[in-house]
Amino acid sequence: MLVSSYDAVLVVSSFIVAILASYTAVSMATQISRTRGKAMALWLAGGGFAMGLGIWSMHFIGMLAFSLPIELGYDPLLTFISLLVAIASSSFALWLACRRRLTWRRLCFGALVMGAGVAGMHYLGMEAMMMMPRIVYDPVWFALSLVIAVTASGAALWITASLSRDPTHRTALKVIAAIAMGCAIVGMHYSGMEAARFPVGSICGAANAGVDTHWLSIIVALVTLAVLGIALIISLLDSRHVSETGQLNQSLHQANKALEHMALHDTLTRLPNRALLADRIEQTIETAHRSKSRFTVLFLDLDGFKAVNDAYGHAVGDFLLVECAQRIRAAVHPEDTVARFGGDEFVVLSQRGDAEDIATLASEIVEIVSQPYTIRDYELRLSASIGIAIYPEDGQDPHALLVNADAAMYYRKDMGRNGYSFFDPSMNANAEEHLRLVQELRLAIERNELVLHYQPKFDDPTGPVIGAEALVRWQHPERGLIMPDQFVPTAEKTGQIIDIDNWALDEACRQLKIWHEQGHQWTVSVNLSPLQFAHTELIDTVRKTLARHGLPPHSLILEITESTAMRNVDDSMAILQQLDELGVKISIDDFGTGYSSLLYLKRLPASELKIDQGFISELIQDSEDAAIVSAIIALGKALNLRIVAEGVETLAQQEFLSELGCDSQQGYLLGRPVPGDAFVHLHEPTS
Ligand code: C2E
Ligand code: MG
Ligand code: MG
Repeated sequence: MLVSSYDAVLVVSSFIVAILASYTAVSMATQISRTRGKAMALWLAGGGFAMGLGIWSMHFIGMLAFSLPIELGYDPLLTFISLLVAIASSSFALWLACRRRLTWRRLCFGALVMGAGVAGMHYLGMEAMMMMPRIVYDPVWFALSLVIAVTASGAALWITASLSRDPTHRTALKVIAAIAMGCAIVGMHYSGMEAARFPVGSICGAANAGVDTHWLSIIVALVTLAVLGIALIISLLDSRHVSETGQLNQSLHQANKALEHMALHDTLTRLPNRALLADRIEQTIETAHRSKSRFTVLFLDLDGFKAVNDAYGHAVGDFLLVECAQRIRAAVHPEDTVARFGGDEFVVLSQRGDAEDIATLASEIVEIVSQPYTIRDYELRLSASIGIAIYPEDGQDPHALLVNADAAMYYRKDMGRNGYSFFDPSMNANAEEHLRLVQELRLAIERNELVLHYQPKFDDPTGPVIGAEALVRWQHPERGLIMPDQFVPTAEKTGQIIDIDNWALDEACRQLKIWHEQGHQWTVSVNLSPLQFAHTELIDTVRKTLARHGLPPHSLILEITESTAMRNVDDSMAILQQLDELGVKISIDDFGTGYSSLLYLKRLPASELKIDQGFISELIQDSEDAAIVSAIIALGKALNLRIVAEGVETLAQQEFLSELGCDSQQGYLLGRPVPGDAFVHLHEPTS
């Protein structure tokens, strides 16, 4: 046998080339699973090509490292075919490894193909030397070379396949896969060489006709460089892709979290919204049910918020809501939920279930909400009405608990606000009745069930009667006379108030015309709801109604509340100016409860201020209310407005108001609201 030897440097180089080529191929293979169609085919071809080239050049570097004492060369055709075999088998194996699911059968098959490709390339490459006599192979080493090729290929394919499943260890896995594959190629090659025996006297048939080793080394060097270059570019591209994907994933994750937060929280106060609240109540019910414990739902509504919002604008309103939310949040336990339920409504879900504890918590919240708020140099005040429902007695599901807490809150409002009430089943009966009333109200106008009562307005101190305020009542067929506070607020919510007000305006004018014809030169005051006041057809309706009844405009007084007048000051001003041009008089009702700006009040074409009953009812000399009333009267005089005091119930009030210089008085003391015909009999001058 001829004695062979190896060049150590070239052996090491052959190993490096094999690993680099494998790394390139694995990098490309990981792109395959991420793409589809044409791009996928390209990556596959690239990976197969890099792998095949790598195997092939490794083989020839290995051959350069090997020397026999005879001259060597390679047959170009066989050399080329060996390259094709390497590329084809690599491509196929990579394709197999990158399928969505790599079964054991597929893996074994892939390992066989890849191993056969590596071995096939090697032994074809050996054939390309065209040795004479032919090379003799040692069967044991030969078999071993095949086993190494197949097992190491299998390992490499398996690692490559697991790359797509484990993105966190991509680089490490790629390096391990590349080393395994490199071992498959190199191990196969050198064990194959170990198997080869060159009989003494052998000559290389391709030594002169074929590619000589000089050219081969240049080709191999170029190929190696190319493979290295590709490897570098791919891995760079890939790592950038990975970090971009990472960033993309992270921002997607953040966006998702933000969306989720938005869907479950109120944007203004950042408190949980209704949806999240319902969810929390549901969870709390589950826990409480299991542990047989109690918990509480507190429904809170801000009193007076609407007036502030209307008078100062939404920015101030928003500020108040945020501030209020923070105060409530600070008053409850950290594990309690504070949610914004709607406009100025909040719900507290408290883990406490003891009535005494809850009463303490509720009064703390009422107290903290009623502390003054300072914004833009204003000092504003709000109060809260709270309704309380306790699980399980006041409701077994989120809906029932909320509805009952809400009913208790409304009950509290009716009882005089700024406090709390525990739920009682009787409150719900009221609520249901209320709902039926709303439905019946729709028919009330058609069926002519509405009536007007008239309350006299006296020139201070004791007369004569100068006019009447028309006040609507509902003559219900079963329930009798229903007062406006039972249906006007709801009619405002449903919009029915527009029809009611139009009817009241027409009816009051009809009545006034009769009085005028009877010789009473009275005026009639008609209340306008905020909705009617803002209605585009208001001016037209008023003009037509006056014309229809042939009344002088100055005999009609329209009452709008202070907060309505101050809501949209510019719009209000425009409407009031048009009414003024019509000749109709304007009265600012419930004065003192809203937040009037003096500046606007001065420009407002009103002729009358009606001091709110609230100030009159507790009017005692030297009281705070007395100071307010005298200030309002002074203000009215300065602005050239008539001052009307309403709700005068006692002689003491009447006298004191006269003393303060009130222009007119209205109240139960002087005359209750009565139907139109009764009014004439009662208040006809008895001359
Ligand atoms: P308002 O315009 O401030 O009317 C005065 C209310 O005080 C009337 O109640 C009247 O009966 C009552 N009142 C008069 N004197 C006294 C008194 O000495 N003591 C007490 N405690 N109360 C007195 P009413 O008729 O129940 O009306 C309540 C509110 O309903 C009215 O307040 C007004 O805002 C509204 N309203 C009444 N009629 C109409 C209407 O036709 N259209 C609209 N939009 N609202 C109306
Ligand atoms: Mg009024
Ligand atoms: Mg009033």
